[in-house]
Amino acid sequence: MSGDKAREEIRFHGAGVSPGIAQGAIHVVRDDLDDVARYRIEPAQIANEIGRFEAALIQTRTQILEMQQKIAESIGAKDAGIFDAHLLVVEDRTLIDEVLRKLEADLCNVEWVFQEVANNYAETLSKIDDPYLRERALDIEDVTRRVIRNLQGKAPKAFLALTEPHILVAHNLTPSDAATMNRERVLGIATDLGSRTSHTAIMARSLNIPAIVGLHNATEKLETGQHVLLDGTDGLLVVDPTPETFARYGELESKRVQITQKLAELRETKSTTRDGRHIVLSANIELPGDVDAVAANGAEGIGLYRTEFLYLNRTTLPTEDEQYETYRKVAERVSPDPLIIRTFDLGGDKLAPGAADVGDELNPFLGWRAIRFCLENIDIFKTQLRAILRASAVGNVKIMFPMISGVGELRRALSILAECKEELRRTGSTFSDTTEVGAMIEIPSAALSADILAREVDFFSIGTNDLIQYAIAVDRVNERIAHLYEPTHPAVLRLLKMIADAARANDIWVGVCGEMAGDIALIPLLLGLGMDELSAGATLVPRVKRAVQSLTIPECRQLVDEALELQTPSEILARCLELAGKRYGDLLG
Ligand code: PEP
Ligand code: MG
Repeated sequence: MSGDKAREEIRFHGAGVSPGIAQGAIHVVRDDLDDVARYRIEPAQIANEIGRFEAALIQTRTQILEMQQKIAESIGAKDAGIFDAHLLVVEDRTLIDEVLRKLEADLCNVEWVFQEVANNYAETLSKIDDPYLRERALDIEDVTRRVIRNLQGKAPKAFLALTEPHILVAHNLTPSDAATMNRERVLGIATDLGSRTSHTAIMARSLNIPAIVGLHNATEKLETGQHVLLDGTDGLLVVDPTPETFARYGELESKRVQITQKLAELRETKSTTRDGRHIVLSANIELPGDVDAVAANGAEGIGLYRTEFLYLNRTTLPTEDEQYETYRKVAERVSPDPLIIRTFDLGGDKLAPGAADVGDELNPFLGWRAIRFCLENIDIFKTQLRAILRASAVGNVKIMFPMISGVGELRRALSILAECKEELRRTGSTFSDTTEVGAMIEIPSAALSADILAREVDFFSIGTNDLIQYAIAVDRVNERIAHLYEPTHPAVLRLLKMIADAARANDIWVGVCGEMAGDIALIPLLLGLGMDELSAGATLVPRVKRAVQSLTIPECRQLVDEALELQTPSEILARCLELAGKRYGDLLG
C-alpha cells in the first residue's frame, strides 16, 4: 500500500460480532442476490450449464404465465397482454442459440454468458430509432433479470464459489449462507443488516471469521474490488486504509494474539471459581465439523448442538441413519463429556425451504418454530429422536427441547420421546434409558412457570438470545433496535433468577447456552444467580474460563443482590463491569 498516492480512508461503523482483523479485497453482494460473477467452467461442465439454463427458461416461462393469468383475472386480459412480449423473449431462438454458442466459446458460467448476450441485444435494440424495438429492449432487460434470478436460485450462490479469498460485504446473509461458507475464501464478513444474536453472527463466530453487522448502507457505498481492513472486535470497516492505520492495527492485533496465546494455556485447567465451585463450561456447535474446536478451546463437552443446521441447504430430509451417524461421531468425540443435542429449531431466521418448509410468515420468531413445528410433524420429529436415542448408547448424550412455552408442549414432547424408546425396544436397537432430558427456557411464559416445568425434566438450559428478545420485545436480528436489546434489563435479571431458583428448589441443574454465557462482562451475574453450567461459542470458552477462575461465588452473589436493587440496564451493566474489570480487566479491552 505504501506506493499508492495519498488518499483518504473511509470508515464505516457497525457492531463487531466476531472478533479478529481481516484485510483484503471485498466482494459486494446486493439485494440478497449476487452481482453476476464470472467464473470459468471445464468443457465437461457445459452440459450441466445448458441444463441449468433450460430449467431457468422453463421456470421463467411458468412464472410469466402465472403472472399473466393473475393480472388477467384482476385487471383484465388487455393488460395481461403486455407479458406476451416477455414470453417471446424466453422463446427467442436467436438469443438462446447465441448463448449456447458463447457458452462453448468462452467456457464461462451460464449466468454470465446469458447476461452478456442479453445485454448486447437490449443495447442494440435500444439504439434503433423505433419505439416498438425500444420497448422490446426493456422487455429483454426485465426477462434477463428474472432468468438470472432463477439461475442463481439453482446454482450455489456465486459468492460461495469465490475462487479468490475475499471479504464479503452483503446486505444480509442467511444462516444457511454462513453454514456453507468456505473459511479459506471468506476472510471476513460485513453486512448492512443483522445483530449479535442473529444466527449468521453466531455462525461467523463458530467459523472464526471476523464479522461486522448493522452497517446500514455499506453495500450501496462500496464496490467489489475495493480494499478494506475489517475489525470484527470494534465493528469498524476501513476502506482504503492508510499505512498509519495498518501500522496501528498491526500493534493491536499482536496484543490480541498475545492475550489469545496466554488464554490457550488454560486449556487443560478446570473452570473452577477461586473459592472452589466447579462450573461446567461447555461449547455450542452448529455443524458436526465444529467439534474439533470443543476440546481445542478447553471446553467440557457440548452444551448446545444446534441440529437444525443439518436440515439447511438441502432438498431432502436427513434420514434416521444419517442423523444417527452424525450424532454418534460427535458423541464419541466428546465422550465422556456430555453432548446436549437440541432437537431441531427450524423457523425464525433459520429456514429450510427444501427439506422442512415452515413457509413465509409475518412474524417468524413468534411463529411456527422449533417444538411447535415438531409437534405437528411427528414423523420428522420421531426420526430425529430415534437417531439421538441410538447415539445415546455410545456417548454421554442428553436431549433438550427448544421453545417450550408451557407444560402441555413439554409433556407432549416427552410422551413422543417415550414412544420412540418403545419403538426402539421393539426393534432391538440399543439406547441409554437414563438419558437426561431438559427444556430450553427461552420464552417468558416458560420462565414464569419454571416451577411447574422443573418437575418434568432433568435440567434447564436458558436460551437468553430468545428470552431477551421476547422479554423486551426486541427482534434479535433487527439492527435498528439492537441498542434496545439489553441483557442487563432488570426484567431479564428477574426472569433469570426465577428460572435458577425454580431449578434449585426442584433439585435439577441449570445452565445458560445463549450468547450471554459468552459475554465475560456478565459472567459475575450468571455465577451469582447460581448457574451450574455455561455453554458458549467454542472460541469464547477460554475467556469465559479465565473469568470463572477469577471470581468467587460470594462476591457474585453480592453483585446479584445489589443488581436486583438497581433500576436500569446501564446501572446493572456498570456494576457487572466494575467487578469484571477488577478481576480480569485485561480481557475487557
Ligand atoms: C437462545 O435462544 O439463546 C439459544 C441458545 O438458541 P438459538 O440462539 O439457537 O435460538
Ligand atoms: Mg433460541
